[in-house]
Amino acid sequence: MTAQVLDGRALARQLNKALKQRAAELARPPGLAVILAGEDPASQVYVRMKGRVAERLGFHHQQIDLPADTSLDTILSTVDRLNQDDSVDGILVQLPLPGGLDGRVATERVLPDKDVDGLTSVNAGLLSQGRPHLVSCTPFGVMRLLESSGIALEGLDACVIGRSNLVGRPVAHLLEQRNATVTQCHSRTRDLPEIVKRSDVVVAAIGRSNHVKGEWIKPGAVVIDVGVNRMEDGSLIGDVEYDAAAQRAAAITPVPGGVGPMTIAMLMENTYKAAVHHQG
Ligand code: NAP
Repeated sequence: MTAQVLDGRALARQLNKALKQRAAELARPPGLAVILAGEDPASQVYVRMKGRVAERLGFHHQQIDLPADTSLDTILSTVDRLNQDDSVDGILVQLPLPGGLDGRVATERVLPDKDVDGLTSVNAGLLSQGRPHLVSCTPFGVMRLLESSGIALEGLDACVIGRSNLVGRPVAHLLEQRNATVTQCHSRTRDLPEIVKRSDVVVAAIGRSNHVKGEWIKPGAVVIDVGVNRMEDGSLIGDVEYDAAAQRAAAITPVPGGVGPMTIAMLMENTYKAAVHHQG
């Protein structure tokens, strides 16, 4: 069996195109503000990509650059100003913050209705109660990719490897809400290979290159690889041994070109949703 490749780039392009049309029908363009503190090269790349897509969709986009020695108070007052600004529908604080500043404090300051990253405790709590409002972008993108695979999740055994608030935990909630039976795995899980081997759906969000071996994949399973690991030669690889897993899976996401572009597309969708909400 050779797996269907779940092409996140193509799906994101298609979703962005439709979203651009819907956004053009609003009274004013959706507004996205991104706060970038410091000069972390990866964060700079992510923020640039988000800005580019926002502009391509006709959104109003602003980037607020703060120096690496910014205080938490400055970041919080910037968030407060954007919270009060009616032209801003969505606010994103790019993480990690420099100088060991606590990113949770900064993201928590964003008004839940402008929390297009879905990271506030209000939005995380609503999701955990099965009443999702603005859902964290990567988990949201994972679900869209699963939908695109055509798989009916109800009753399937799914395992999510990773339990971060950013990815693993919300993905597990979303899968459970689609009536999959979810096993949430983490660094203390005993016998990960056995759990993966019985899973119809595997979502890997670990941050360890090739940690999930191809031979663990149940024939016909759907594999979503969230991991992004930069190798010494600069290339990016995922958490799953791609070639070997693709021999067994029914469908699999590549890295890069799988979950990554979908994360940005879902950020745009959340910003649009927030704009619709704000415009009544
Ligand atoms: P994280 O906060 O570091 O969480 C990693 C999770 O993996 C933790 O829950 C950890 O368990 C678990 N883990 C670590 N070693 C393990 C092992 N040997 N076996 C099983 N579980 C293990 O990372 P994250 O923010 O969730 O991100 C995960 C990966 O996704 C990273 O590669 C990140 O770059 C990538 N990512 C990609 C996108 C995208 O758009 N493509 C977006 C976000 C993140 P414990 O809780 O026990 O420590």
